[in-house]
Amino acid sequence: MSRTEWNHKPDLPIRVMPLWQWPPKPLAVLRWYWDSWFPISIHLVIVGLAFASYAWASPTLEQAARPGWWIAEIWLRNLVLITLVAHGLHLVFHGHQMQGTEHKYDPRPFPRAGRMFTFGHQLRDNMVWTLASGVTIWSGWEALIWWAMANGYAPTMVWADSPVWFIAVFLLIPIWESFYFYWIHRALHSRVLYRFHALHHRNTDIGPWSGLSMHPVEHVMYFGTVIIHFVVPTHPVHLIFHLMFYAIYAVTTHTGFEGFWASGRKRLHLGNFHHQLHHRYFEVNYGTLDMPWDTAFGTFHDGTDEGQAMMRQRLKERRRP
Ligand SMILES: [Zn+2]
Ligand SMILES: [Zn+2]
Repeated sequence: MSRTEWNHKPDLPIRVMPLWQWPPKPLAVLRWYWDSWFPISIHLVIVGLAFASYAWASPTLEQAARPGWWIAEIWLRNLVLITLVAHGLHLVFHGHQMQGTEHKYDPRPFPRAGRMFTFGHQLRDNMVWTLASGVTIWSGWEALIWWAMANGYAPTMVWADSPVWFIAVFLLIPIWESFYFYWIHRALHSRVLYRFHALHHRNTDIGPWSGLSMHPVEHVMYFGTVIIHFVVPTHPVHLIFHLMFYAIYAVTTHTGFEGFWASGRKRLHLGNFHHQLHHRYFEVNYGTLDMPWDTAFGTFHDGTDEGQAMMRQRLKERRRP
């Protein structure tokens, strides 16, 4: 890869979760999970936000039994939350460039103007699709499951039933995400569905608002992850966390930077070179790093020159009649 292609690269090669590496490395697996949660991580922040939302900006199960103003409350809470997170990160990294361009992956300026964007501008395009479609469909799914839980169509549980399961659900959701996201994303790259996914790929360079900038059809599929609550017994706070994780994680993995630096040290990992490669080259890295799908199907790009050469070779072979 030439120097001008990337302004910054993280430590390479990118590696998938050690659980899928051979020979087995149990300590590395524990370390991977520990690092993705502690001492401070986006995961933990979202758990906090989910509990706060449950306490102060959600219906009770009794209220949720019938449609009402509580649906608007959920929509408004999600709208305010995503605006604060996405715009806060946008201002820090791109608006005020508080970190300059150090640790920004793509050398091109962000955001850009262009005819392919709604209203001719990347940022406005991203904001409109995130807020009008993204927040509405996210809230719609949340309201549906609240209603289903309240009426006994979806199984529920409380802390006293099983504290172990109550905690385990939080830990399992990010792993489930790595599984679910790969498969719907792969389907979205098929001939039939790519017309919807193309909207997200208007962003060849990305910023926080790009994360949830999707076509409504993609939003329905993306947040459709919560149908699992019809099968698995959960508490409403798990439901809030589940959807919030999908929404906020999309924003924080699309910053376009490796992370937040202060006094010469990375304080918070924000952004994802693995997915940044997907936005640049489209046909690599469909999944995330917790599951080995891309390595299994030969679409993994580890960010190195060898990874680049493998991708070129694969695409060349595909084009041959
Ligand atoms: Zn993306
Ligand atoms: Zn894609």
